[in-house]
Amino acid sequence: MMQQRFDVKVLDQAIKKVPNFPKEGILFYDITSIFINPPVYRMVIEEMLARYQDQRVDGVVAIESRGFLLGSCFALERQVPMVLARKKGKLPRPTIGRSYSLEYGNATLEMHQEDLLPGRHWLIVDDLIATGGTLDAVARMIEESGSYVAGIFSIVGLPFLNYAKKIGQYKPITLIDYHGE
Ligand code: AMP
Repeated sequence: MMQQRFDVKVLDQAIKKVPNFPKEGILFYDITSIFINPPVYRMVIEEMLARYQDQRVDGVVAIESRGFLLGSCFALERQVPMVLARKKGKLPRPTIGRSYSLEYGNATLEMHQEDLLPGRHWLIVDDLIATGGTLDAVARMIEESGSYVAGIFSIVGLPFLNYAKKIGQYKPITLIDYHGE
């Protein structure tokens, strides 16, 4: 199969924009349409790998649930461990957790405490950065565990929601940005 070179227009076309979901006034960027399109899925993963190829990454922290589908490909290819940041109550072993506010509502994420090995540089992966609250919560958990944030990766960025104020110090990388609705 021919490898699709990274093309932001191809990525834009693959992302479905759904107005008023999950509630009135929110434009939802649905990236699940990437996963039904293998060449675009591969293009995204290859670009993600390329962006971090010269950077130390000891492990991936992937955020439920769309972050899992990016983090797992990256972690396997780089041969580093992946820790899942899951919604409250899903993980069976002792966890660390943190609550935070979303663009719409509140949430709590948890990780298996013993898996988040200290002294490592973790790349945090999610599908979209809106306010940055989710990634900020995960970054704090990583730092409180005595580890470091290697970076933050997301397919989509919504910079007009000012996420740089919260997580700019972690140098977030996004493959496409949208500037309002
Ligand atoms: P935030 O914590 O505000 O950065 O929100 C990020 C999380 O909420 C990500 O896990 C996204 O999947 C989801 N999310 C927030 N806003 C949107 C949006 N407009 N479209 C799609 N997903 C969103």
